[in-house]
Amino acid sequence: MSNSLDLTEFHWLLAIVQSIDVGVVVLDREYRVEVWNTFMENRSGRQPGEVHQQSFFSIFPEVEQEWFRHKVESVVTLGTPAFTIWEQRPYLVRFKNYQPITGQEEFMYQNTTILPLRSTNGKVEHMCLIIYDVTNVATNKQQLQTLNQQLKHLSRTDRLTGLNNRGYWEECLQHEYARHRRYQSMAALVMFDIDHFKKVNDTFGHPAGDKVIQVVAEVVREQIRDTDYAGRYGGEEFVILLPDIDSSGAMLFAERLRARIESLLVTYEGQSIPFTISLGVADLSHQTDEHKQLIERADQALYLSKQGGRNRVTCYQGPS
Ligand code: GH3
Ligand code: MG
Ligand code: MG
Repeated sequence: MSNSLDLTEFHWLLAIVQSIDVGVVVLDREYRVEVWNTFMENRSGRQPGEVHQQSFFSIFPEVEQEWFRHKVESVVTLGTPAFTIWEQRPYLVRFKNYQPITGQEEFMYQNTTILPLRSTNGKVEHMCLIIYDVTNVATNKQQLQTLNQQLKHLSRTDRLTGLNNRGYWEECLQHEYARHRRYQSMAALVMFDIDHFKKVNDTFGHPAGDKVIQVVAEVVREQIRDTDYAGRYGGEEFVILLPDIDSSGAMLFAERLRARIESLLVTYEGQSIPFTISLGVADLSHQTDEHKQLIERADQALYLSKQGGRNRVTCYQGPS
């Protein structure tokens, strides 16, 4: 008998809807609840009898009425489903997150589907709301994004000083160089190297040398602006790109840095370590073919500072 078969099937379907791990709600055109499955009962803590014929918006005041009505109206008019995804709207209805692994999230992330339901007369007089718990997906994706951010930061940062490492700093220089040449704006490069650093290591030990390098980086950080790019270029060699500054401005900056370092009192295990730096400055006022030339010129000026007796600043003066 096909009727009893239909009834059996109907019971099966009902059992499936009840035990399935997604929320199923049927609403009429006035947004009153007709069907409320076990998932909804468990997550909301409200019995089907309690919510039957209640307004969806009174059960879930967090739902933005205007937006939801607009969405549902298009489902009814077009007779096609609509969707919401957690990336755009983390949830439709606010449920607590009970997932043990992703316990750090307060609420359940949701994707939802709104289906048009046709009556026997062919009209869409009801819609079915299906709510998927996608907290796992959302937290995994967010954790991955956080990890990627950390990884990116690590790959750009010098471990000892926290400054930009050489590779990333050069990338920044290349980028800035192109920008300044395109807009014919100025930029200057300051390069410096700690004087007689071998002696610091030999006299006070390698860890003391490390501390000196860290203190120097700290002073650099304290002297620069947010828009400057400071990097550790080599062992005890540093670079600072100063956008929109010419060599005379950079000379003032470099001299201030030199004097500040000279006046420092760095101590390691009770011993004070005096040290100085030699600096070289170059800017974009001379013709260049590529960004590397700016480094070469600052390095040449730095070399002159070393030759001239150290603890001083020299500006690149053009091709000799
Ligand atoms: P100059 O005034 O000519 O620059 O003399 P210098 O002794 O500083 O000469 P040089 O640049 O040749 O020596 C640099 C030394 O820095 C050699 C190396 O052992 C040491 N060094 C490089 N990286 C580090 C580091 O990360 N930590 C420590 N403690 N020492 C380092
Ligand atoms: Mg040195
Ligand atoms: Mg050196």
